[in-house]
Parts: sequence; C-alpha cells; structure tokens
Amino acid sequence: MEIYVPDIYQQDIYQINYDVLLSRGIKCLIFDLDNTLVTIKEMYPKEETKNLFNELKEKGFKIIIASNSIKARVKPFHEELKVDYIYSAKKPHIDKINEFITSSKFGLDEIAMIGDSMMDDVVCGNTIGITTILLDQIGKAEFPIARIKRIKEKRIQKKLRDKDLFTKGRYYV
Ligand SMILES: [Mg+2]
Repeated sequence: MEIYVPDIYQQDIYQINYDVLLSRGIKCLIFDLDNTLVTIKEMYPKEETKNLFNELKEKGFKIIIASNSIKARVKPFHEELKVDYIYSAKKPHIDKINEFITSSKFGLDEIAMIGDSMMDDVVCGNTIGITTILLDQIGKAEFPIARIKRIKEKRIQKKLRDKDLFTKGRYYV
C-alpha cells in the first residue's frame, strides 16, 4: 500500500512550501497538468500560476509539465509558462518520465513529482523513487479515464485511512 502514499500532501500548488523542498535538495519539479495546474475546462494557465512559476525559476528550480493528455492540450502551457513538457506521459507507467530523468542531470533525490492523482502521479513517482507530492484536485470535472481511476482511488484511500497511512484533508509536509 506504501506505493500510494505521497511524501507530502497539500491542498494545491500554492500551499506547497518550496523552500522546504529546496532545503531537502529538490531541484527539479515535475508538475501534472489537469486538475493540478488548471481544471480540464481551462485551456491556458492563470496569471497566478505564471507568477508562481516565475518565482520558482528564480529560486533555481527546473520545472517540467508531464501530462497524460495529448500534445495539443499540453503545448499551450509549455508556451505560456515557458517550461519543458512531456505529453501522453502514460503515468503511472514510468518510461516517459524515466526518459526525461535519464536525459537530465538530476539524481532521483533531486526530483519531485507533483499532481492530484494518487493512481497516476503518486504511483509513478514512488515507483521511480522520486519525492511525491499529492494535491487535492482543483476541479470536479474529469476526463473519462480519470473518472474511472478516481473510483479506484477512493477505494484505496479508504484502506489507507483504515490503516492510518493517509487521510484526505489531513495535510502534511
Ligand atoms: Mg491530474
């Protein structure tokens, strides 16, 4: 069950304490897109997200967006936020993310995966062995595949709660 448990759990990208990440040696942030940066209805990033990303770049973080969505969905965020991107990432499969990691100069202990899906983002990151940060989903609407995964996620989260391994709404750093 540990494969589902994130290292950090916060409400959204603005609640993450990035200075704590820096102090732990994290240098590269891999962000999910849908329901992490924007709802599935939004086609462009919000101004506050642009501001956050600028702050993070100034702090020295390398930022990359890794999304299971297709190129046409992800590319506008790459352009607007001026960060690299991986589309059709197929999370929780690790191949595409590992491809990026191998081609980068970062060690596994320098990378954090940030997203709203326990089944995709957390499992992928934990399988690879990087820091995982789970966030609450920011929109209620989901793409069909994500909706099915969310049902499974609810069942897993009940088991985790029963074992006191993870409780939704109980945030931790
Ligand atoms: Mg997502």
